[in-house]
Amino acid sequence: MHEVTGGWRRVAAGAGLLGTDGTVHPTIFAEMSALAGRTGAINLGQGFPDEDGPGVVLEAARRAISDGGNQYPPGRGILDLRVSIAEHHRRFYEWEVDPEREVLVTAGATEALTATLLALVDGPDDEVVVFEPFYDSYAAAAAMAGARLVPVPLVAPSFQPDLQVLRDAVTDRTRIILVNDPHNPTGTVFTAEVRAEVLRLAERHDAVVVTDEVYEHLVFEGPHVPLATMPGARERTVSISSAGKTFSVTGWKIGWVTASPELIDAILAVKQFLTYVNGSPFQPAIAAGLRLPQAFFDELAAAMHAKARLLGEGLRAAGFTVTPPAGSYFTVADAEGLGVRDAAAFCRTLPERAGVVAIPLTAFVTPAHRDRYATMLRFAACKRVDVLREASGRLAALGRVSSAG
Ligand code: PMP
Ligand code: GLN
Repeated sequence: MHEVTGGWRRVAAGAGLLGTDGTVHPTIFAEMSALAGRTGAINLGQGFPDEDGPGVVLEAARRAISDGGNQYPPGRGILDLRVSIAEHHRRFYEWEVDPEREVLVTAGATEALTATLLALVDGPDDEVVVFEPFYDSYAAAAAMAGARLVPVPLVAPSFQPDLQVLRDAVTDRTRIILVNDPHNPTGTVFTAEVRAEVLRLAERHDAVVVTDEVYEHLVFEGPHVPLATMPGARERTVSISSAGKTFSVTGWKIGWVTASPELIDAILAVKQFLTYVNGSPFQPAIAAGLRLPQAFFDELAAAMHAKARLLGEGLRAAGFTVTPPAGSYFTVADAEGLGVRDAAAFCRTLPERAGVVAIPLTAFVTPAHRDRYATMLRFAACKRVDVLREASGRLAALGRVSSAG
């Protein structure tokens, strides 16, 4: 068979998925969801809800399909969705943006992130600073853009960065500082001090701040503070979010970028040749979602907080050391106290041992820093309460681990 050459190798290697035999491994999410499917284990790995989101949002999509909203929407997204995004920013953050020029609808946050990196990074001398552990698409997108990824470790158990390490990581080569807040996989919400330092460093080194705020409505003790709303941040910040987590529609892939007209135009120049547009009947449905009353958003965060507490209790009872998350779908649990030395190996045997699937934190980490997170696992709390209870019961029966990890 002819060997396939090309840039895919750089992307796969960047994401840590290129095997020594030259084959590409599936992402950790695909691998662990497949493992759950095969074994019938409870899937607390990949972060997707097991219940439908608000009926009005689902119904609005059905209606849009019946009403013929099935052709290409405008390149920047349907105007009503962009207006609803601007309304959302005003309502939640007192943040005024122009829906015509400062908002761009994308195929999920994933496309928004990739288009932003491709648009703003130009070659191997450019660096992208990320907090580590980081969401898997960041390394892949940086590799696509040909940039160097510079990871700044988050320090357990609080998972905040050491500010001096952050300062040392940002230089004049830094093109982008990428901040995921609330954070996947740790559930951290960054302190005001960290946000201020990120902005100060971006100003000093003329870098762009790119935020990934897909969990903005899953902050447990709010309010969420978009970095773009801090004084002086606006002109150098690209804010990214998406509908998947807020409305429990992770398969719809409707995301958006909010930034200055100049930054939006640059990102659009790339985005229009990645997908051009997507999801026309879902766009009006998300506009309806963003206009839901305050109670919906409050209940979403409160329900996820309760689930995270329930999961945390179960994990503690089973012998894990747990950092209570401040937001997101996720809880990090350290299995060292259970005798685990290698969480990746442990996760592969967890379905057999306990009928539960989790993700090792090392999947979100560059090889040089694996040791720091070697005994930690990420569990997703975005599941029904009865499912979390059942998972807790199964984990409680786990006992101390004496082999395989
Ligand atoms: N960023 C983070 C931190 C995520 O957890 C996810 C996905 N779950 C994404 C981006 C991707 O979002 P989307 O599905 O909207 O592309
Ligand atoms: N964001 C989801 C998670 O972190 C996974 C999405 C994916 O499979 N790419 O679990």
